[in-house]
Amino acid sequence: MDLRYTEQEGHFRDELRAWLGDVLPNVPPVPSDHTDLKARRAYDTDWQRLLYEAGYAGIHWPAEFGGRGSTPTEHLIFLEETERAGAPYVGVNFVGQLHAGPTLIAEANDEQRAAHLAPILRGEHVWCQGFSEPGSGSDLASLSTRAIDDGEDYVVTGQKIWTSFAQVADYCELIVRTDPDAPKHRGITWLIMPMDLPGIEIRPIDTALGSGEFAEMFLDEVRIPKANRVGAENDGWRVTMVTFAFERGTAFISEIISSQRLLADLAQVARKVTRRSGTAWDDMGIRRELGRLDAELDALWSLTKRNVSQAQRTGMVGPGGSVFKLAYSDVRTRMADLAERVLSRAGLAIGETLDLSELDHVGQRIYTLTLTIAAGTSEIQRNIVGERLLGLPKDR
Ligand SMILES: Cc1cc2nc3c(=O)[nH]c(=O)nc-3n(C[C@H](O)[C@H](O)[C@H](O)COP(=O)(O)OP(=O)(O)OC[C@H]3O[C@@H](n4cnc5c(N)ncnc54)[C@H](O)[C@@H]3O)c2cc1C
Repeated sequence: MDLRYTEQEGHFRDELRAWLGDVLPNVPPVPSDHTDLKARRAYDTDWQRLLYEAGYAGIHWPAEFGGRGSTPTEHLIFLEETERAGAPYVGVNFVGQLHAGPTLIAEANDEQRAAHLAPILRGEHVWCQGFSEPGSGSDLASLSTRAIDDGEDYVVTGQKIWTSFAQVADYCELIVRTDPDAPKHRGITWLIMPMDLPGIEIRPIDTALGSGEFAEMFLDEVRIPKANRVGAENDGWRVTMVTFAFERGTAFISEIISSQRLLADLAQVARKVTRRSGTAWDDMGIRRELGRLDAELDALWSLTKRNVSQAQRTGMVGPGGSVFKLAYSDVRTRMADLAERVLSRAGLAIGETLDLSELDHVGQRIYTLTLTIAAGTSEIQRNIVGERLLGLPKDR
């Protein structure tokens, strides 16, 4: 691991800081209504456009495909500085920027790259991910959405679920079964599905947090041109593993800094929540746990740098991404437990008696649950770490 930054990386950080200092004061506040997905799309794609115009879009994409061609370390600096400065989150551009675009760079043909990469970078095309099905999540390879070969097209019928931002997406990275008789990993194909094709029905799913981005996607004889296939027919599982390597490698890194901020907020809350005598801050057990979690977040940042310097050497994130995701979900779960202990009954009245309406430790408790599920559950990450890093016998 090499934790030092080069002179060039230092310049990159300074330039980025100066640019963020110039533009952020003019960026409007995040739309307050989380259920207004059109407003969220407009906000996130406007920010993407600003990044594009300043040369920061696709920071880690190769320059020949319109990206900045930055090193993994510069990518880390970008995530660190934008998060510290309070810049908008990647939001609806998550799939396009972080895994569909990189998958197309690695696996698509020239026409597909020419049609899709630049619009993703400019914030013109929003993508969603049509992988999970009601009966196929962790065991994704058992998926049953069927694609029948019909001349120039595949005719696709089935159901997808948990499709984030399907309601406002232009394209979907879709995996389908093209050969039902082959072993389950060998009969899958990865397709680009335009979301305006006839036969696609989107039904929003309400979440406990009240955010409206989840949806079910029903596909009824949707005709997807074969020209939209990425990789060979029935080789889609391999392409899917490429998508996952990008998704798990980068998805949660920038959250460490916002988690540190949240933990500092919690320490402030502890000083205000009154107990029978004094405040929650007077409880030595709470102070000790706050300190421990702060140290663990620091350690996670170092682990990230280790993963990044490994990726710089080898070109791959590797199972280190799973170690990170597992440890990060665990720290956030314990942070949520601690927030419950600190807030105690005051948690029911937050925003009233505490006057801390900007703090969302109650909402974060629910959000934390999603961290242990999204992009592969904690159990699945444990399987990956056990099998690929520790050499334990394979999960049956
Ligand atoms: C915030 C969020 C966003 C998401 N966005 C998308 C999206 O945009 N597109 C998309 O396609 N999907 C999306 N998902 C779905 C996500 O990928 C799945 O929820 C996840 O893969 C788990 O699948 P499942 O829900 O079917 O749970 P299941 O696979 O049914 O798992 C149920 C439980 O069994 C455990 N389990 C399963 N198999 C094993 C095993 N072999 N060993 C040990 N334990 C096991 C799991 O860990 C879990 O606790 C999203 C999920 C979340 C939470």
